[in-house]
Amino acid sequence: MSDTVILAPDYQPVNYLPLSTIDWQTAIKLFFLDKIQVLEWYDDWVVRSAKLEMRVPAVAVTKKGFGKNGGMRFSRQNLYLRDLFTCQYCGDTFNGKQLTIDHVLPRAQGGTTTWENCVAACKECNSEKGNKVWRPNKAPVKPNYWALVNSVKSTYTGIRHPSWNLYLGLKDNDSKIAKNR
Ligand SMILES: [Zn+2]
Repeated sequence: MSDTVILAPDYQPVNYLPLSTIDWQTAIKLFFLDKIQVLEWYDDWVVRSAKLEMRVPAVAVTKKGFGKNGGMRFSRQNLYLRDLFTCQYCGDTFNGKQLTIDHVLPRAQGGTTTWENCVAACKECNSEKGNKVWRPNKAPVKPNYWALVNSVKSTYTGIRHPSWNLYLGLKDNDSKIAKNR
């Protein structure tokens, strides 16, 4: 579960993709291990054990460790985000289940699974394309961090606590974030 947002020591999210969240049990464990500093607590979410009663952290900063890795990790979700859930051949928008990863230069011809050789394609286009080489609407490139962050802002809907908007730089309210996923 995504209960607590984790920020790096510079107060930036450790990872947008997947969003760096942890479940509340882990958050409380890290808190007692003195690994995180809690910035925001849920007002209305209290957990109890035999010995203790406490609110659940909503946003926390790591004291050190996690670190931000420079390059964006290639993954299905990140690729769809880069392409804004749009098939790069027919130009229609789909949800994640209807999309596939298409190798621009097919694997059979030595195409690699990399940012530069993969695009989002709907199932129909992908099967029609087969082992042919089609030119995608947008030349695939490795996205930079902020480009993906902007994609997340326009597609992310999993806000659990109002303060997340602030820490994630998500100024828009949820109603404006209405991408079909
Ligand atoms: Zn298509």
